Amino acid sequence: MGIRWQLIICFIAFVLAMLLIIWVFLIALLDFFYERTKINEFNAACDAIEATVNTDVFEDTCYNMAVKYNVCIRVFFCQGTSLRKQIASVDASQYCLIHHISEEALTGYYKNALDRDGGWVTRITLGAPRGDSEDRRGDRHGEEEDRSVFTPKVMAIAVHSFRASDGNEYAVFLNTEFTPMFSMTHTLNNLFLWIALAMLLTASLLAYIFSLRISRPLARMNDAAKQLAAGKYDTEFKPAGYRETRELAGTLNYAAQEISKSDRLQRELIANISHDLRTPLTMIGGYAEIMRDIPSEMSPENVQVIIDESQRLTDLVNDMLDLSKIRAGTKIPEKSVFDLTDTVREVMQRYSVLVAYDGYQIIFRSEDDISVDADRTMMLQVIYNLINNAVNYIGPDKTVCVEQTVRDDRVRITVTDHGEGIPPQEIANIWDRYYKVDRVHRRARIGTGLGLSIVRNILQLHGASFGVESRLGSGSSFWFELPVAGKLEREPPADSAPSSDN
Ligand code: ADP
Repeated sequence: MGIRWQLIICFIAFVLAMLLIIWVFLIALLDFFYERTKINEFNAACDAIEATVNTDVFEDTCYNMAVKYNVCIRVFFCQGTSLRKQIASVDASQYCLIHHISEEALTGYYKNALDRDGGWVTRITLGAPRGDSEDRRGDRHGEEEDRSVFTPKVMAIAVHSFRASDGNEYAVFLNTEFTPMFSMTHTLNNLFLWIALAMLLTASLLAYIFSLRISRPLARMNDAAKQLAAGKYDTEFKPAGYRETRELAGTLNYAAQEISKSDRLQRELIANISHDLRTPLTMIGGYAEIMRDIPSEMSPENVQVIIDESQRLTDLVNDMLDLSKIRAGTKIPEKSVFDLTDTVREVMQRYSVLVAYDGYQIIFRSEDDISVDADRTMMLQVIYNLINNAVNYIGPDKTVCVEQTVRDDRVRITVTDHGEGIPPQEIANIWDRYYKVDRVHRRARIGTGLGLSIVRNILQLHGASFGVESRLGSGSSFWFELPVAGKLEREPPADSAPSSDN
């Protein structure tokens, strides 16, 4: 079912529930609440009269109660089950029953009260002819009146008997008119039907308007998403409707950009990888053929070319495998406490030939030997990739600085070169797979475009922070930080890896 119908049904259900609650409290229970109020008023009047009997204010109290609650009152001094003497009487209503029925009837009511722990309330429907006389009215109490001829009047009579502080028994008779609720209920029912109709219509209309505001942008986004799925990456999701749908449009636009970027990078990757694979293969094939056909070309240098090129191929394949394993989650860090400083030295050792023959200088500055709790092989790869990049993008000074600093129980490794640097707008992208700032594939640089992506994935797996500061023309500083697991203070002067200056 679509949003529109769902919303309309929800709104209507809500309105029906509200109407039901209102109907129950306002109409169905109206009679009940009215009766409760009257009984409470009777109780309040009886309490006040009982409290003041035999005092100077007794008569005033009876009068005040009669006015306040619109009741007729008669109070009798009693002996046994008979009413001996009337001590107060207030007739507040022309329809009063207790002032017009016989004393035997009153005595009967009193006995009822005595049988029921001193309190008795009854309701009497009284049929009275229009413009009637008091006498007839007085005679016609009881439930059996003719409703077709007389306008019914309902009277409530309460009897309360009590023993006062002087030890005498008293009986209070109260009489009030009980407004019949059925005509009011009937009117309210009619009114209620109209209110219900108006509310249902308004609810349906509102639900329809809301649903349009929600479903229309969603339907449009759905169409756009279908186009995106069909490969139209420039599809735009137009923000419209409520905040959530506008945000969804923003997110989908971002997702579309990312998909398009990843698709572009994927294409570039295929071009780059096939180039990267083809070049060493051509070299290997070419050199091997020359050496097979011309025996004098069988020199160690030419064999070295074949070895180098196959190494390049191995590196490329390894990088791709590593990255896919990390990303697929099959490569889980096997953490152990190891000497990070030593690991840096180990990586630098690999560059000793470059340092010795090509005039490169790799400087390592560190104070203490720091151990960390991490996957050593993975960290070795991070350090190797960072130093390898620094060497690949090295500046004219042919110097790479590796620095180890410790602050707040965290060790930071920074690899700095003074090469060409990275344009600011590219910095956010260099951690992406297959991303190369220099789009022209330069073979002189042995990059696969995967190195930094591997670094990022490994460091994220370790929850480590990392980053880069770079200025175009002055070089780059790549860094990462890990919590220190242990420290081994070194006796100065300490010796580091090749060309180390500490
Ligand atoms: P590559 O194998 O191409 O070096 P990386 O993922 O290691 O791939 O790096 C991605 C891109 O980031 C590189 O192609 C390069 O443009 C840029 N980059 C990385 N390190 C440096 C650096 N030290 N100096 C300048 N640019 C760098």
